[in-house]
Amino acid sequence: MDKNFQEEFMQITKFEPPLYKQRHQFVKDLVEKYRPKKVADLGCADCSLLRMLKFCSCIEVLAGLDICANVMQEKMHTLSPLPVDYLQPSERSLTVTLHHGSVAHKDPCMLGFDLVTCIELIEHLEESELKKFPEVVFGFMAPSIVVISTPNSEFNPLFPRVMLYRHPDHKFEWNQAQFQSWALETARCYDYSVEFTGVGHPPTGMEKVGFCTQIGVFVRKYPPTGESVQCEKPTEAVYKTVFKAVYPSLKDEKYLQNAVISEVIFTAQIIKHRLISKREEYGDDPERKSKFQPSMDCFSDYLGKLVLEKNMEPFVSGNEVYIPLATIFSFPKVSRLCGTFEKLCKLIAGKVTLSSDGSAVMFNIEHENEEN
Ligand code: SAH
Repeated sequence: MDKNFQEEFMQITKFEPPLYKQRHQFVKDLVEKYRPKKVADLGCADCSLLRMLKFCSCIEVLAGLDICANVMQEKMHTLSPLPVDYLQPSERSLTVTLHHGSVAHKDPCMLGFDLVTCIELIEHLEESELKKFPEVVFGFMAPSIVVISTPNSEFNPLFPRVMLYRHPDHKFEWNQAQFQSWALETARCYDYSVEFTGVGHPPTGMEKVGFCTQIGVFVRKYPPTGESVQCEKPTEAVYKTVFKAVYPSLKDEKYLQNAVISEVIFTAQIIKHRLISKREEYGDDPERKSKFQPSMDCFSDYLGKLVLEKNMEPFVSGNEVYIPLATIFSFPKVSRLCGTFEKLCKLIAGKVTLSSDGSAVMFNIEHENEEN
């Protein structure tokens, strides 16, 4: 290879963004397109793809599998919920689980997934494992979509330093025809369709070598099998669960209740504050006491509208301020969280001080008056 050529290739083979990022972005785009709820990443290594996927709002179940527990465990803590996840629980539920085991073995924990990703995995499999792999993934797991990526050996001559394989643990590297014939046969056998693409474009004029990473996207042709059919696949658990994180979610009554209580108290406090300031402004003069007249800020405007239109007026009696629950419920954030007024009442019962008939949040303002 002459020097100019080699220099050119050196530049070509430095992908921007790096190839692993392009592969992960490819999966992310696929997730955005098909919106799967349950995704399993086989050969998940340091969990970097899972870490990216946990931010995809459609995903409720994420699972990783690898034969090497150490590589998974090194960074698995980065899949745990952060303090902010507890402070602001998400509307969706999310469970992330990591399993230690081989793609050559079936385990019931891998049933029910919509998307299964195998990124740069198959070339690490021994011949015996590769033989069993299609039956495990396409026959047993049988997700709607499977993505398989693997190096394209036709691209290797463009890497100046690659002698045989790109990585010492690779057991083989296929050219495009080899990968496509394996993928087509697998798809035919298990009733999937497959389309080929890739990431890492070849240099201009050398398009024939194909993408640096070749990718097959398999889509199941037959409709989803129901739970009952899955139960007909009895297999013993063979994988070992090494990590499980259940993210706080508003679907969990405990977190929903906390969120609703905070929002109710926050909304009621603001209304109370506005009410007290108006009273100070207009004193007790009944003529001048404006009931939430239009003002420059939208909260007061909204409150004013409620009071005028729906007669849901907060009021002061002695040292107590009463904010009707109906007023609080009509605030979009509160109603979106609770869904129904009945649910609001149920969630705050015993947790927020209410008037004796339970229709209003009650605050004692004795000390606030003293301070003023
Ligand atoms: N998918 C990752 C890393 C691929 S490296 C990424 O996109 O970056 C291949 C991974 O497959 C390694 O972590 C290796 O431990 C794992 N692996 C190899 N044989 C396996 C098997 N039989 N079952 C499950 N994982 C396997």
